[in-house]
Amino acid sequence: MASFLDNDIKFLHGVGERRAILLGKELGISTLRDLLYYFPFRYIDRTKIYKISEVRDDGQTYIQLRARIEGVSLQGGGGRKRLVAVVSDGTGTAELVWFSGIKWIEKRLEAGREYVIFGRPNFYREELSLVHPEMEPVTAALTRPSGMQGVYGTTENLSSNQLGTKGIYNLECNLWQVAESHIVETLPPEILRAHGLIPLKEALYNIHFPQNPEVLRKAEYRLKFEELLGIQLSILSQRAGRTSKNNGFLFSRVGPAFNEFYNSRLPFPLTGAQKRVIKEIRADTVTGHQMNRLLQGDVGSGKTLVALMSMLLAADNGFQSCMMAPTEILARQHYATLVRMLGDMSVRVGILTGSSTAKERKALLPALEAGEIDILVGTHALIEDTVRFANLGFVVIDEQHRFGVEQRARLWTKNQQPPHVLVMTATPIPRTLAMTLYGDLDVSVIDEMPPGRKPIKTVHMRDSQRLRVFGFMADEIRKGRQVYVVYPLIQESEKMDYKDLQDGFEAISRQFPLPEYVTTVVHGKMKPADKEANMKLFKEGIAHIMVATSVIEVGVDVPNASVMVIESAERFGLSQLHQLRGRVGRGADQSYCILMSGDKLSREAKARLNAMVATNDGFELSELDLKLRGAGDLNGTQQSGLAFELKIANLGKDTQIIEVARETAQQILEEDPLLRQPKNALLATLKERYSSKREMDFSMIS
Ligand code: ADP
Ligand code: MG
Repeated sequence: MASFLDNDIKFLHGVGERRAILLGKELGISTLRDLLYYFPFRYIDRTKIYKISEVRDDGQTYIQLRARIEGVSLQGGGGRKRLVAVVSDGTGTAELVWFSGIKWIEKRLEAGREYVIFGRPNFYREELSLVHPEMEPVTAALTRPSGMQGVYGTTENLSSNQLGTKGIYNLECNLWQVAESHIVETLPPEILRAHGLIPLKEALYNIHFPQNPEVLRKAEYRLKFEELLGIQLSILSQRAGRTSKNNGFLFSRVGPAFNEFYNSRLPFPLTGAQKRVIKEIRADTVTGHQMNRLLQGDVGSGKTLVALMSMLLAADNGFQSCMMAPTEILARQHYATLVRMLGDMSVRVGILTGSSTAKERKALLPALEAGEIDILVGTHALIEDTVRFANLGFVVIDEQHRFGVEQRARLWTKNQQPPHVLVMTATPIPRTLAMTLYGDLDVSVIDEMPPGRKPIKTVHMRDSQRLRVFGFMADEIRKGRQVYVVYPLIQESEKMDYKDLQDGFEAISRQFPLPEYVTTVVHGKMKPADKEANMKLFKEGIAHIMVATSVIEVGVDVPNASVMVIESAERFGLSQLHQLRGRVGRGADQSYCILMSGDKLSREAKARLNAMVATNDGFELSELDLKLRGAGDLNGTQQSGLAFELKIANLGKDTQIIEVARETAQQILEEDPLLRQPKNALLATLKERYSSKREMDFSMIS
């Protein structure tokens, strides 16, 4: 049923063809509804006006002044040219500074005129300044509909087409004029009543133009609830669909592969947790339904072994398996581990990565299609169309946060029936959250480390303490241990990062000279063969120190390594730091993680590093991570594997609403599984809306 709100955004007053294209490209806004559901990411309290004399250097993020321009001047030259306006409000003076867009700004500043000035306060020698503040002549500023003004996310490209945050705000005002009468309630009255929710129209109005903080909170709650309820209805319906179908492969027998491995090849007794998870997987694969299981286990908890034993179970029942890893190094490591553990057993293992040669592919692919390979390990290369299995029955995805939903979905089409799926991650999150993020799945947890592990000691050191760190590294090497030194690698500044790595490598080689010490280096730009040769030096204990980028983040297994030095640790995310730390502490010796950073740290970076020092518990850290990052970041990261985009709910902060929404959805579906009752018509529509958004999700195989 087409609604007025489905109209193309280009028809809105103030948009037009050209900006419509921009809005679509930059923000995914193509209809009136899209714009209506494009919410501010924060609000400025425009009711408070500071006096210049009362602004303190106390970390205030934004302030608003009302002051007169005394004078405007161009200062500096060449690349340092800037526009400076001095303003005064009778209690003091402040400087406003612009470094770009100078011409445009200059035309709009009028000496002697009074402005409302909004921006972030800086102090230099006790003098207040604001860089690139927002300016509005006083008359205009005082006619706004509400004291709290939304700030909308925008992009550089949009800003230079008059669609900065203010431009978008203006469009929202225009939109409201025409859209208001077309807003139709999406939730049934009983739900509104039961949960104390305000009507949709009121919520949408106040999310854009809040009349006061209290009604803004109600608006947010209502819209979050609606979003999360829609998602939960969609996930739970899918689950019902999956478990009502009998199209899951049956692994009914425990055969020679599993038994031989278990009885005579297992290098150590399984931990209780590993046993429990293998039992859970076994139970899942005899139900006749397809398994969708998330295996959470901290770094080093022994997930690989669980994966291997599950794949042996598949082999015993005549099915092939594949194991997908996010990096070439990790895939090769898994391959080596599996081959080593299987020894001379008759299970056939293959490997396929982006750097497999044409010749290797020619040997591998026909064998795979003929069913002559039981387990195929690899990277993204596994999802290519040319990769055909004879009978794929089990899929393992390692370190799942690195894969997008779409990539996962492509694996399932490789057999007529969907394979069982085991997703393994070292970034544990609460079950409800996991389901909200990744769709319909069951969760297993390995909550027990292999015996004999000593907790890793973590310290935070400043760059100025580097000599002490070098001394410590030398001590450990003298004891026969090995050391990792890791540098961050961030796409935007790749060049500089590689330079840092190169400089670091040289400094360490100077500090730890041949022939007494051997230092090796591994990073993503190396040829795979070189990479492997250098890794081998370290694995075999020939190299004492390995300098690397975060390519070693996952999977590298060198039990003799006891020190992990992380350079510029403030630039890594919490889960990445925890992953890296997990590279040590795998042997019987005391291990150490040294977080190096500069002196100046943001509050969040400090919180991350402190948390790393305080705990080794991955669960605790990932909860904190979610809190620190919030969903904004989660949504923005394609690697997060999100099955849909959230408009307003924050998965880190709104856990309580998630729970309520989930319970509500459960109750509704219990009574009316297909949402066919008239009173649930609105909910059926809501569910559909979120189901189509999630259609690439891997739980939607049919
Ligand atoms: P992760 O869960 O991080 O993938 P791995 O599977 O790489 O962990 O296992 C980490 C290390 O622990 C490996 O060296 C592995 O051989 C070892 N390991 C796994 N299970 C056990 C066990 N039950 N007892 C002792 N060591 C184990
Ligand atoms: Mg692993």
